[in-house]
Amino acid sequence: MAQKFQNYIDGIWCDSSDGEHFENRNPANWDDIIGHFPLSTAADVERAANCAAEAFKSWRLIPAPHRGDICRKAGDIMLRRKAEIAAIMTREMGKTITETLGDVQEGIDTAFYCATEGRRLFGYNTPSELPNKLNLSFRVPVGVCGLITPWNFPMAIPTWNIFPGLVAGNTFVFKPAEDTPHTANILVEILIEAGLPKGVLNIVHGAGEVVGAAITEHPLIRAVSFTGSTKTGRIVAQACGKLTKHVCLEMGGKNAQIVMLDADMELALNGVLWGAFGTTGQRCTATSRLILHEDIHDTFIQQLIGRAEKLKLGDGSIEGNDVGPIINQKQRENIERYVAIGKKEGAICVLGGERAEDGDLKKGWFYKPTIFTGVLPNSTIAQQEIFGPVLSVIKCNSLANAIEITNSVDYGLSSSLYTKNINDALLAVRDIEVGICYINAPTIGAEAHMPFGGVKSTGNGHREGGWAVFDFYTEWKSVYLDYSGHLQRAQIDN
Ligand code: ADP
Repeated sequence: MAQKFQNYIDGIWCDSSDGEHFENRNPANWDDIIGHFPLSTAADVERAANCAAEAFKSWRLIPAPHRGDICRKAGDIMLRRKAEIAAIMTREMGKTITETLGDVQEGIDTAFYCATEGRRLFGYNTPSELPNKLNLSFRVPVGVCGLITPWNFPMAIPTWNIFPGLVAGNTFVFKPAEDTPHTANILVEILIEAGLPKGVLNIVHGAGEVVGAAITEHPLIRAVSFTGSTKTGRIVAQACGKLTKHVCLEMGGKNAQIVMLDADMELALNGVLWGAFGTTGQRCTATSRLILHEDIHDTFIQQLIGRAEKLKLGDGSIEGNDVGPIINQKQRENIERYVAIGKKEGAICVLGGERAEDGDLKKGWFYKPTIFTGVLPNSTIAQQEIFGPVLSVIKCNSLANAIEITNSVDYGLSSSLYTKNINDALLAVRDIEVGICYINAPTIGAEAHMPFGGVKSTGNGHREGGWAVFDFYTEWKSVYLDYSGHLQRAQIDN
């Protein structure tokens, strides 16, 4: 009998208001039912938003260093439970244990980073234009925040938001992805153990169109952070716009790795192998385009195929497997649709291009690492996000040409350049239109204390991670303290 899980609202674990639930299955073996989770309603969001608003009244008054202490304790607990959480995460979303351990570690890093940020959260003071007057400006929390997350980083992405948001004094209504509700509940358990007061963090499971939409439409929720597809992000932004909410969007990518003639080939091969097929290509920063200088193209591709062929597909919980399954049936069908389009548009599929169904693999949503060569920069598989282990290889003839191709997509999340030429490296850093740029490293590998996000259709100008995330989770309050004892009129009396 599969386990039954609950929402957490106002400090109480509870079912959805109408008692409905949904099933969560292991993508590597769909006979394996992880549990049943509440299929919540707008009424559950209403309750969660109300109690988060109530909890905000006292949470905002707790000194930020103390709020930071709760993050530190949460980090300690995550460290203690690291292996257990990684196993749970691999079971529900498929990536290998090595990768899920990394995902948990990112949460731990964020916890410790945010803990100390509670003792900074710096404001500004500045001279007044009038005598005997003090100008200060400091950060205040936004209020109740909604958090809508995807399934590919089930611990890292929620913690990037929840820890800084809490330190800044906000309370939360959190809706995790339908495919990774178990890891999300573990995060809630951790924060309860760390001493978070009731009502400060509420989790409401369920469908995006119901629970997610209710979060975007609830007037008490003043800010919404969303990570997911560009299509859904636009819906979220529109709903939030109507109520003038803060909205932080982290959406798609079409990330390129450029390899120039003078690159260290071994390094570049390892980079693209990890960037394109790590997490089964299901990262928003995954390498989905490889831009190769034409003079090294054939040799590089030959070696890349040789290495990619050796990647071992299978259940991510089994040691030795390199590539896990696709998250669900819908997503595997989406990949199949793009592969068919690639073939139709004339690209050459030199590896993969089909499901992996040998032995136990047929019980899960496996898809072979796939490489297309002869891809034209403006073709569908070079332009649209596929979110799977599909690499489109494009030829270039110079750095300027490579940068032009890199920038020819709507997205602008991550990109990388392999070269030994320092001038080329700095030109690329200057001219590639992305939020995250790597030199001699793959397109994946963000660190928790650096700003994370992208330009163009990837985002809307906000950043998660590092110090930059506090710009989203706080408002500025400007304070003028006049100790002159008489009326002083700015712009008039000075
Ligand atoms: P994916 O294709 O990876 O499922 P989505 O962008 O659809 O990406 O989902 C990301 C998150 O957004 C999930 O938690 C999902 O439930 C939620 N979501 C989906 N539709 C909506 C919506 N209309 N409003 C708010 N959230 C939504």
